[in-house]
Amino acid sequence: MSNQSTLPAAALGVRPVRAFADNYIWLIDAPSEPGSVVAVDPGEAAPVEAELDRSGTRLAAILLTHHHPDHIGGVTRLLERGRVPVIGPDDARIPIRTRTVGDRERCELPELGLAFDILGVPGHTLSHIAFWGHGALFCGDTLFSAGCGRMFEGTPVQMNASLSRLKSLPAETAVYCGHEYTAANLKFALAAEPDNRAARDYQARVAALRGADAPTLPSRIDLERQVNPFLRCDEPALRAAASARAGRPVEAAAEVFGVLRAWKDQFR
Ligand SMILES: [Zn+2]
Repeated sequence: MSNQSTLPAAALGVRPVRAFADNYIWLIDAPSEPGSVVAVDPGEAAPVEAELDRSGTRLAAILLTHHHPDHIGGVTRLLERGRVPVIGPDDARIPIRTRTVGDRERCELPELGLAFDILGVPGHTLSHIAFWGHGALFCGDTLFSAGCGRMFEGTPVQMNASLSRLKSLPAETAVYCGHEYTAANLKFALAAEPDNRAARDYQARVAALRGADAPTLPSRIDLERQVNPFLRCDEPALRAAASARAGRPVEAAAEVFGVLRAWKDQFR
């Protein structure tokens, strides 16, 4: 997969806009057009409008990772401020999109100085995509910090393959997820893998951030490789945990993934 980024990762300006109880809508500053921003997954219009007004910026494009209402629900109202490209996956449940992108295609916004590679990442939903470029990954509800999305439409084999692709992105990739779930995810991660020292250390950092009401995101791919049980399905400790949970030997990574995901669905 090529990524002809013209901009180093640290130079990409991205800020969170909070929506609903725990969603993040990400606003990306357009490198070539100061004052313009691109919104990722605006499930709600009002908080985006408030941030545009506060920062004196204008919306130049909308990127959508999947069809769920908490990711697309604000699009119609945002377009009332002015028509902009709405770029998302091929899915009839996103009728508002103006441009369709799919796996291994490029999403180019040359006038804004932005370009992303598209990764098809089925599992949470079948048409879910992720945007990767400029050292950043916008992955919606596929990968969370220390966790992953619920498997509403895909199979464990599909979702495990999707997460494996994200895991193989460059170590320093900044990971912008759709929800603030990190603290709860770490509780499960440590139940599944109690001896994971990196996850334990991360839990303390996350508690401090949440105590200060600060986002735990973006994460990084190298951190997720260390702390995220759903990216560690080939680790012996997690294979053993999945086998104990299932009451039978569980070997293949996708099968380990399936047991962990079902366990997490029940975990409180
Ligand atoms: Zn979703």
